[in-house]
Amino acid sequence: MTRIGFIGLGNMGGPMAANLARAGHAVQVFDLVPESLDRAIKAGCIVAGDAREAVTGCDLAISMLPAGDHVRALWLGESAGERGGQDLLGALPTGALVIDCSTIDVASARAVGTAAKARGIRFLDAPVSGGVAGAAAGTLTFIVGGESADFEAAKPVLACMGQNLFHAGALGAGQIAKMCNNMLLAIHMAGTAEALALGVKEGLDPGVLSTIMGKSSGNNWSLERYNPWPGVMENVPASRNYEGGFMTRLMVKDLGLAMALAEHAHSAVPMGALARNLFNLHASQGQECKDFSSILALYLGKAQG
Ligand code: NAD
Repeated sequence: MTRIGFIGLGNMGGPMAANLARAGHAVQVFDLVPESLDRAIKAGCIVAGDAREAVTGCDLAISMLPAGDHVRALWLGESAGERGGQDLLGALPTGALVIDCSTIDVASARAVGTAAKARGIRFLDAPVSGGVAGAAAGTLTFIVGGESADFEAAKPVLACMGQNLFHAGALGAGQIAKMCNNMLLAIHMAGTAEALALGVKEGLDPGVLSTIMGKSSGNNWSLERYNPWPGVMENVPASRNYEGGFMTRLMVKDLGLAMALAEHAHSAVPMGALARNLFNLHASQGQECKDFSSILALYLGKAQG
């Protein structure tokens, strides 16, 4: 059993922390949202009064936060408005391991990792793929950047939350790989919604069309595992009014990170740029808190309530 501090119990962090508790670890958690703390207690976690208390006495700490600002505020103590800075690195013992699973900009990941190293603390950027269902089932893919030895040390704990554990390279490499993946995800989700809307407008049944394309060359993860058409699949956000998944605003954030990366790399990303514009437009129509598969509404000309 390891004593683990876990900060950020949202759509992803909540079930991830629950899986660590289920595996027998002592998981000390904190989130700003009281309801998520209630759920964590039911899942067997130990609720702390604040983030510092959550990581106190831990050799291993995990964060699952929205964006780079939140991660820097928490670990480095950089001011983040009303969220306030925490400087949690200062609360950890030398040799502790910090695993940040949030999807954030490469510069923030490297800044926190470098500051951690200067204090004798190990750090991995370890964004995930697999969505809320993968987080609940413990089948996430972890895409990790950092020292090989630290990756090996993290494996037993990551294996409680995920099935596929990849070492992408040095500090920041996890975030780079994750941005490439999410740019591709945005493109095939928009394309899937576009194809389904076309077929249905021409009289096809969305379930029949999904089955046909799923066994044909148009098959992809959005179609097969995260179908955007309500009712085609059970247990996906589209079948619960696009609640409880990967919010459109987080996809817009990730596409912004991919664009910045492309500029840095002098790499043309015309499909990614178009996808970013589509998701941005969709978010601006009051859909930013809905799951990103609700992009279907853009093609149908009606926003989801
Ligand atoms: P979310 O908004 O549901 O959860 C984030 C949580 O962080 C919230 O509960 C919030 O209250 C908490 N938080 C923010 N600042 C805090 C602070 N200072 N102290 C304590 N708690 C704080 O987001 P999510 O969907 O769980 O995503 C988290 C990260 O994982 C994001 O970077 C996202 O891009 C990434 N991600 C999400 C999915 C998905 O399907 N939802 C999939 C892969 C990766």
